[in-house]
Amino acid sequence: MRYERPSTMKEATNLLAKEKGAAYVLAGGTDLLVRLRTGFIEPDLVVDIKKIAATRTIQPSAGGFKIGASVSGAELGENAKVKKAWPGVVEAVNLIGSKQVQGRCTMVGNLCNASPAADAVPALVAAAAKAVIVGPKGKRTIPVEQVPTAPGRTSLKKGEIIESIVLPKRPPRSGDAYLRFIPRTEMDIAVVGVGISITLDAKGVCKAARVSLGAVAPTVLLVPEAAKALIGTKMDKAALDKLAAACSAACRPIDDKRGTRDFRIKVAGVLARRAAQIARKRAGGK
Ligand SMILES: Cc1cc2nc3c(=O)[nH]c(=O)nc-3n(C[C@H](O)[C@H](O)[C@H](O)COP(=O)(O)OP(=O)(O)OC[C@H]3O[C@@H](n4cnc5c(N)ncnc54)[C@H](O)[C@@H]3O)c2cc1C
Repeated sequence: MRYERPSTMKEATNLLAKEKGAAYVLAGGTDLLVRLRTGFIEPDLVVDIKKIAATRTIQPSAGGFKIGASVSGAELGENAKVKKAWPGVVEAVNLIGSKQVQGRCTMVGNLCNASPAADAVPALVAAAAKAVIVGPKGKRTIPVEQVPTAPGRTSLKKGEIIESIVLPKRPPRSGDAYLRFIPRTEMDIAVVGVGISITLDAKGVCKAARVSLGAVAPTVLLVPEAAKALIGTKMDKAALDKLAAACSAACRPIDDKRGTRDFRIKVAGVLARRAAQIARKRAGGK
């Protein structure tokens, strides 16, 4: 196995594009190294992207933020500006693992590992975040929900690397939140995760919303019906009931040892209702 640590995106994409065997990007390694050590994967090439300057910074971008692909969860949590604008995204990323894991893990690794239960992903989808992808044929930008295509699979082509995640500009009176259910108090995989982002008008009426569910389908879901239940309302009980029903209806979960299908369907509605109330409060709703 070759380990490479290039300092430019061009070198990194060339290395990956030219490799004939199994090639992997290494960010924090908190998924990759576990899979490697358990023999689940046998890489011929590992390309560590942490030395590439473009992946290491958090920059302002068109009123929002461009967050480099190797910025760790802990670094993101220490960024007061991102935390203020997108508290739901930051709380989702900071839920990953433990203090030790936080020092290494990245939200792009969470996205590219393509687990249906990944914690950062529903919050990123709700935030309308975009992934900036660099590959042998140049740069392209896609909505984050188009990255995972199935458990453990992504839409990235050979040689492509996600360089950064773009969080859009936040209109005034906006708020977001992420909640998950786990059987333990921490260090567990989400049974259900819900990300919600909303914007209110001056009268407290919800004028924009995005709702996303994790761990209830093969990939994280964007649920437009759930957003519709909130838009045009003051997010009162009737609207929250509709939101919960739309979230439950969108679920296509499996039964496993962490939760049954019926439990996941029910909990998706319960968490959506709670996350919406937190997002509304953060948006300044009374
Ligand atoms: C003890 C422990 C607890 C955990 N707890 C949680 C949890 O609570 N919630 C949760 O969601 N996850 C959890 N995880 C899983 C893991 O920590 C997260 O998914 C983390 O965000 C992965 O980020 P990373 O940078 O370490 O990814 P890596 O392991 O470096 O990479 C993960 C995958 O993404 C690919 N990849 C990474 N970066 C890029 C890039 N820029 N472009 C293209 N492909 C890329 C890699 O090739 C690999 O296939 C836990 C893991 C451990 C070991």
